[in-house]
Amino acid sequence: MPLVIKDEYPEKLFRKDGKRLDGRDLDELRPIKMEVGVIKNADGSAYLEWGNNKVYAAVYGPREVHPHHLSKPDRGILRVFYRMATFSVFDRKRPAPGRREKEISMIVSDCLEPILFLELYPGTSFEVFIEVMDADGGTRCASTTVAALALADAGIPMKSLVSAIAVGKIDGKRVVDLSGIEDKAGEADFPIAITWYNEEISLLQFDGDMDLDEMNDFLEKAKVALSKIHQIQLDTLKSKYLLAQGELTNEKEIEGEN
Ligand code: UDP
Repeated sequence: MPLVIKDEYPEKLFRKDGKRLDGRDLDELRPIKMEVGVIKNADGSAYLEWGNNKVYAAVYGPREVHPHHLSKPDRGILRVFYRMATFSVFDRKRPAPGRREKEISMIVSDCLEPILFLELYPGTSFEVFIEVMDADGGTRCASTTVAALALADAGIPMKSLVSAIAVGKIDGKRVVDLSGIEDKAGEADFPIAITWYNEEISLLQFDGDMDLDEMNDFLEKAKVALSKIHQIQLDTLKSKYLLAQGELTNEKEIEGEN
């Protein structure tokens, strides 16, 4: 029986009808679904399905710092742990965290730190655990987005949310929201995050070739896409409170009837 290599790159990343391999237009996002309050033991949590990516984030804090020597007397600390489950990708992924996971943990932490008021929590820590259950390109962006949502779900004072997306170039065309195969077989991958309270870029990585005009165009495309993602984050948070409000109103009505 021939060996099946699932990750073999296709020759072309566009179909005959001009659509991308998964049927999307150039600027089209993959389907996105978010939920908060999914892990009951955590102070705050969120789940994100973004195309085939499935990512959980759980937040604990403010709480005592372990190990103690990491604690800072004048501010809280933020620790982010990004992990990809061993079954989340086709290749065998080693269970121990590798360099890539450490790098992404640091990136996500750098994106989240500016939105928190860590100076209000001396001697404590906020810990964000991110578990990628299924990975298909853009997991650092998905992780940043879902982690911000989990922090908000924990009720931690924040300046704003942060949202992230990867734009890039495939078969010479500029596209938004690269899938796994587009990330690997394309020419350029450009993950970007925005902190919304000041609209500053908190993540900008780049892998590939581009000139300045292309870069400006990529930034514009990313901004449009990021606004859509931000809106989904806000709607997800609001829906939790609307649901709670609805339940409260129902309870009051029942009490009034009795
Ligand atoms: N990937 C993989 N095995 C690994 C790491 C990554 O198959 O050990 C896949 C996974 O689908 C991931 C994609 O490659 O989403 C792109 O990985 P990259 O390091 O560019 O980070 P990401 O795009 O996920 O932020």
